[in-house]
Amino acid sequence: MSGGALLSTGKPFTHQSESFHRFALAGNPNCGKTTLFNQLTGSREYVGNWPGVTVERKEGRIKNGSARLLDLPGIYSLSPYSPEEVVTRNCLLKESVDLIVNIVDATNLERNLYLTTQLMELERPMVVALNMMDLLNKRGDRIHIQRLEQELGVPVVPVSASKGVGLERLLTVCSQAAESGGKTGRPAIYSRGVEALVQSVSRELLPEQHMGGARWTAVKLLEEDRLTLSGLALSSSQRRKIQEIRGKLPITRLMDASMIIADQRYRYICALCGRVVQRSEKQWKPSPSDRIDRVVTHRILAIPLFLAFLLAIFFITFGPPGNFLRDLVAWMIQDRFGETLSLALDFAGASGWMHSLLVDGVVQGVGSVVSFAPQIMLLFTLLSLLEDSGYMARAAFVMDRPLRKIGLSGRAFVPMLMGFGCTVPAVLGTRTLENRKDKQLVILITPFLSCSAKMPVYALFAAAFFPAHRPLVIFSIYLMGILMAALTALLFKNTILKGEPAPFVMEMPPYRMPTVKSLWLHVWERLKDFFVRAGTLILGATLIIWFLQSFDVRFSLTGSPEDSILAAIGTVIAPLFTLCGFGDWRASVSLLSGLVAKESVVSTMAVLFSGTGMTLSEVFRPLSAYSFLVFVLLYTPCVAALSAIRREMGSAKWTVVTIFYQLTAAWFVSAFVFQIGTLCGHLFG
Ligand code: GDP
Ligand code: MG
Repeated sequence: MSGGALLSTGKPFTHQSESFHRFALAGNPNCGKTTLFNQLTGSREYVGNWPGVTVERKEGRIKNGSARLLDLPGIYSLSPYSPEEVVTRNCLLKESVDLIVNIVDATNLERNLYLTTQLMELERPMVVALNMMDLLNKRGDRIHIQRLEQELGVPVVPVSASKGVGLERLLTVCSQAAESGGKTGRPAIYSRGVEALVQSVSRELLPEQHMGGARWTAVKLLEEDRLTLSGLALSSSQRRKIQEIRGKLPITRLMDASMIIADQRYRYICALCGRVVQRSEKQWKPSPSDRIDRVVTHRILAIPLFLAFLLAIFFITFGPPGNFLRDLVAWMIQDRFGETLSLALDFAGASGWMHSLLVDGVVQGVGSVVSFAPQIMLLFTLLSLLEDSGYMARAAFVMDRPLRKIGLSGRAFVPMLMGFGCTVPAVLGTRTLENRKDKQLVILITPFLSCSAKMPVYALFAAAFFPAHRPLVIFSIYLMGILMAALTALLFKNTILKGEPAPFVMEMPPYRMPTVKSLWLHVWERLKDFFVRAGTLILGATLIIWFLQSFDVRFSLTGSPEDSILAAIGTVIAPLFTLCGFGDWRASVSLLSGLVAKESVVSTMAVLFSGTGMTLSEVFRPLSAYSFLVFVLLYTPCVAALSAIRREMGSAKWTVVTIFYQLTAAWFVSAFVFQIGTLCGHLFG
């Protein structure tokens, strides 16, 4: 921690180059930091009703231009355990932050104030934003704001971030606090004895050793905080003296120094809450949240219920409602728009190849992918409903037991679930895992959890070969991915990634009514990503495919795709897939283009078949279509995901291991499915 010297003056300092103030949002996970950040800056960062959503810091400018705002990952204390908590701590300690805006969940005052008491020890200007006031009022509880303000010694502003209430006042108070240097608060947290020890440690420190202010550093040293000790260059005489002072704490075998300090903080908070919180009588009845939880986390019902929810989502997305929307869009783009464009081009006297490029290439290729937008939208609306309501956090809890069987904890559920959307954020999300081996394992298995880009491939093939059983066929593919992930976890956990999974601690957010805004934000994020990819990567891949298919090896325009460059490339690879049942050059090249973006498998097929009068059923049988889907499910993720994996693993070797592992797994499982299927066909057919 070389940055310690930055704060040697012990005073917050402002940015030299700009006159903006910089506010940092700090608070427990899931207390509404990102919601507030989005409200104040007009950004659209991901808000999820569970802890561990924000893993990186985000910076933005407040709408009225008065200051810059930092959104940080949530923390419970300033003694971090996981890497994203370190991000927050480092930022608060080292960076030029003029004001700490501590967000406190009013419905959970007691637990949230634990961090508040620590933040106050940094002796920086601070404002407490008391969030979720709407929920508190609904419950009928009261908090005496003025009293709380007096006791803490910093301004306390009641707000409701998601409803946008109290934000103006919060900004005014923050600007004033930053302007005037603000109040830092200095509540009497510790007993007189401990307070005296804190002071003596702080006297031992040289000014340049005040990492986050003298007081904070002293408390941390007294607690024997690992990070602080390793970050400070203490002389041996200092070490000895501090050790001596620490010896005066009533340390026992069961209570070490940090527990004594924590205990005193809790006592202080408990007494404080007793003075400022007034609970309504209603409290004692089980809340609706508790009643729902009794059902969805039921010992026996929980897992069947979870599966039932997922199955329902599949039926809506891939059953009649989703298919209707998809067919509608496909008809509009590929038929109506394609025909109109074709007529227009003929009318304008466009050349044959131009016509082919635009109609058979771009409209068919990109259109084939874009027509899946409604299904992506449906899928993510439904998943977001489960997520925003707070159910997914329960699902993580429910899944902890099965996950433990394969050597992971319920904590891994969050990044894994993100994997169904896109592997890239899922891989980034593994930062919430404390244990490096757990992290490597989760990164290894998330690509098996089918990302949304593969969905169009399944939908296309299911519609062509299993029209009556679309949802079930697609569900089975997803299940197979989950099964492969589990088997992989078992395999690696018992060999090279041995170790106990970290205990699962995740707080259950209360059930909340999902807001239309946050639903739309989630869905839009996926859709935007989808359209951007359609317009860039997939368009690019489509053009290349069209080109390679339209020219032969001598670079002259060819009428028969069989002579094209593409066919030449495909024919070289195709034999590799004979055992899997799709040793056709078209299948090979579409898999190859799928490395750019998985949707390209679909657009490539569309280009290959358009204008030739051929259909999928001339290349695939139902069985080989299925084994092809299995291959698509399991094989190497797209380049974007690979680069995320490379970054998070921090090791090229592991990335190569991942690629190799996915490819082999895909080939073997796909071949297995095809061969067993063929055998069964002979036996029973
Ligand atoms: P973070 O983890 O601290 O960044 O919290 P988020 O901003 O992701 O919010 C967590 C959850 O709390 C989301 O479901 C929000 O919609 C919800 N939320 C945030 N602020 C409020 C509020 O003032 N009132 C209510 N009722 N819900 C809120
Ligand atoms: Mg957040």
